[in-house]
Amino acid sequence: MQLHDGLLGSLQDNSLPEITSRLSEAKVNMEATAVLLVSISPVSTRVGILCCDDINADSEKESLIMPKHAQLLLSMTEVSATLPGSDFEWPKALINCANQNVIVGGIKDFQGNIIGAVLIVLRCHQLTSQQKHYASIARQQIELGLQYKLIQHPFTDKLAEKIQLLNEIGRISHVGGWELDLHASLVSWTRETYLLFGVTPGRDITVERALANFPQASREKIAKAMKASRKSMSTFALEVEYINAEGYRRWLKMTGTPQTDTTHSHQEKVYRIYGSVQDITEHKRLSDTQHNYTEYLSTILDSMADALVTIDVDGTVITANNSVEHVLGYDADELIGQDIGILVPKVESQNTKEHLETFMKGDRKTTKASLEHHFVSHKNGGLIPVDISLSSFHFDMQKRIVVVFRDMSVRKQLADQVYQAAYYDSITQLPNTKLFDKALKGVIRKAGVTYADIYCAQIAIDNISQYKQAFGQPTADYVMRILASRLTRTFSKPFAIFRGAEDNFYLLYEDIITEEDKDAQKTIDAVRRQFTDEVCSDITLHNSPHKIYAVVTICQLKGMKANVSKVRHMLEEGYKQLSRDNVNTPVVFHSASSVGYDRYNFIRQSLGAAVSNHELFIQLQPQYESDGSMVCAEALVRWQHPQLGLITPAEFIPIAEESDAIVEIGQWVMNECGKLLYECNKSGLRTRLSINISAKHMARADFTEKMLAVIAHWNVPKGSLTIELREAVLIGSFALVRNSMKELADKGVSFSIDHFGSGNLNLSYLRDLCIKEVKLDRHFIDEEDKIGAQSPLLNSIFDIAKIFELRTVAEGIENTTQFNDAIKRGCHVFQGYFLDKPLNVTDWRAKLPVKQHAGG
Ligand code: C2E
Ligand code: MG
Repeated sequence: MQLHDGLLGSLQDNSLPEITSRLSEAKVNMEATAVLLVSISPVSTRVGILCCDDINADSEKESLIMPKHAQLLLSMTEVSATLPGSDFEWPKALINCANQNVIVGGIKDFQGNIIGAVLIVLRCHQLTSQQKHYASIARQQIELGLQYKLIQHPFTDKLAEKIQLLNEIGRISHVGGWELDLHASLVSWTRETYLLFGVTPGRDITVERALANFPQASREKIAKAMKASRKSMSTFALEVEYINAEGYRRWLKMTGTPQTDTTHSHQEKVYRIYGSVQDITEHKRLSDTQHNYTEYLSTILDSMADALVTIDVDGTVITANNSVEHVLGYDADELIGQDIGILVPKVESQNTKEHLETFMKGDRKTTKASLEHHFVSHKNGGLIPVDISLSSFHFDMQKRIVVVFRDMSVRKQLADQVYQAAYYDSITQLPNTKLFDKALKGVIRKAGVTYADIYCAQIAIDNISQYKQAFGQPTADYVMRILASRLTRTFSKPFAIFRGAEDNFYLLYEDIITEEDKDAQKTIDAVRRQFTDEVCSDITLHNSPHKIYAVVTICQLKGMKANVSKVRHMLEEGYKQLSRDNVNTPVVFHSASSVGYDRYNFIRQSLGAAVSNHELFIQLQPQYESDGSMVCAEALVRWQHPQLGLITPAEFIPIAEESDAIVEIGQWVMNECGKLLYECNKSGLRTRLSINISAKHMARADFTEKMLAVIAHWNVPKGSLTIELREAVLIGSFALVRNSMKELADKGVSFSIDHFGSGNLNLSYLRDLCIKEVKLDRHFIDEEDKIGAQSPLLNSIFDIAKIFELRTVAEGIENTTQFNDAIKRGCHVFQGYFLDKPLNVTDWRAKLPVKQHAGG
């Protein structure tokens, strides 16, 4: 028979003479029929007889059925009251006990667990107090004797040690042990298991009680695992949810190993399953977190817009995120295992492959690299512009490389658009002046080395402004587009066409021209004819032919003598110097000269020191009324250049206007005039001065402040200073100068419009601004003189002056006729060589009238 408890079982084999004598003694003292020691099974009512009194010694190793209620009494009382013997099932030798009465007393081990019972069979139903006393003593003696034996037992120490060790291991590792006796359906737990399930250690555990710690799903899982384990006779391990002492669901790792026995029929049969339990909630939570984190990371990687792959040192793709499909056209799974080389285009970016290979084989130090403006092959065969970033790391002692492909298609497209906007003309789609300068620079560099020529031309479409005025801007743009297409069609490589500012085109021969290269010279010689015949032929607009008037300024010079700004200057100046007068052909050719450029360059360079070196001086040209009285004088600046001699403002002012030198010069003139007025005032001389101010100077934020400072410093009387502004300034910078003009007008400064009528007549600024005077361009007076008839344009100019109550100054009067005509026209003031040339200060001052004093 199998005993559930190894302790009493181990004693079974020993003769227990002391116990037997105690039982016999009790039998005598209590006048009992029999006194037995039985082992106890908490799950079964069948108990084994371990020891009997001398008389009944035959019944040892037999078993009997001890009713449940009798077993329950063992833990409740030391010695029970009498129970009917019929409640028990006795072995044959003790069958007469069924008609008698039984008292039971529990036997505990040294830990307090009931391990057995003493059964005293009596005839009497009622016990005397003496009998009770005897029974109690007998039970205690037997218990003590047994405990003494158990302590002495060689296994006891080891077992206790082992149990202790097991409990200690369990405590430290939080691993509990369990055992299921399949015969007895008995569950045993170690201390840690009790603690795990929140059950008081030592309590008897039934299978039901054990399973009560698990939710239904876990129970089913355990039952299934046990069943499978018994069938396969193999260990199982499972993770199930359990309910801890506080009622919370937690995770348990449970293992079980079946133990087998050989049956009578020589069959292996599982009689016991034992194993461990461990709370793995924390571990599971961590691994869940880790799992979640991994998922989290891969979600991040997949949601990246960039394609990301990891490769090994041989270039084999190990992982790929989902974006590879979007960027490269490959499915991630499709790419894994492939060579990274499939993404590298064969020809286009050979160096991409080299870079990758260098990085793959590189030493440990190179952990990061980036490759910009590369191309990779899309699955569909196309090329995608990408930026590639590489970084290496070591995983499991293996080098891995992370390759990130950033799709630059959209950015490239945008960059292309920006480039297009910056370097191409939106109307003709031709490259603009920036690219002309760049290309010109390239040709000059090439030609400079070989002493070769460069060739380019500026094509100014002279009458495009007329198209604009007559038909509007869209038609003018259309004409420019037609001309652009004619130019590109006519002049093929090595010629290149560019759109210049406003009405211009540039033609550049993008090769150098050597003296030996006769073909190149022939091609260039043909240019003039091609312009005339193919480019500047009539244009049809609204079913009628329209003329194209162009000025072609050609520039051919030695590369080594050229630079971009010189060529541009030569082209500009060449155009400016050309007069269309008396030229009736639609295309006028003009060869630009480099002579003027050197002087221009010299002037530009020496302008900066002109004021500080006191090289500037003023001449004054008087203005007279018709009665011959001098009412004003125009201050005209001159430059006595130390090397170049006297330079007129007509030459150096436009150059000064290209830089801030004009501000310094203007400021100097303002101050000189202030000083002159102050001196005149002091000397009792009466006059007004008119000074020329450039647009660039006038538009400066500090102009008014500086002007007012001069007025204040020299105590300039109100109404004695006039500022001459060119009409073009007012049209182009109206908004910029308007406030300044108002402020100065309030302080007594008057304004005059120089070269009135030469630009587009715009009446709005006349009405709006404090203009007091207009100066009629010399050409109008000339025209009147030439045609000898009333000029309609001049008529309307005088009408306007009359309407706006403007004083009219006739400029450039060179002879009597012009003077008389101007008088006849009703001009108020007259200026010109006929009356006075610009005078030096002393001569001018000599002509000034003395102030009339009241009463004087
Ligand atoms: P502007 O304002 O039209 O000045 C009149 C110009 O015509 C002066 O040339 C003057 O010498 C010239 N002139 C006067 N009467 C006659 C004549 O009967 N026949 C001819 N053919 N010419 C005559 P100048 O002094 O060479 O000045 C040229 C331009 O330079 C001026 O034209 C003015 O725009 C500019 N300028 C002169 N001084 C200054 C200055 O101080 N500052 C600025 N910003 N510009 C100035
Ligand atoms: Mg003037």
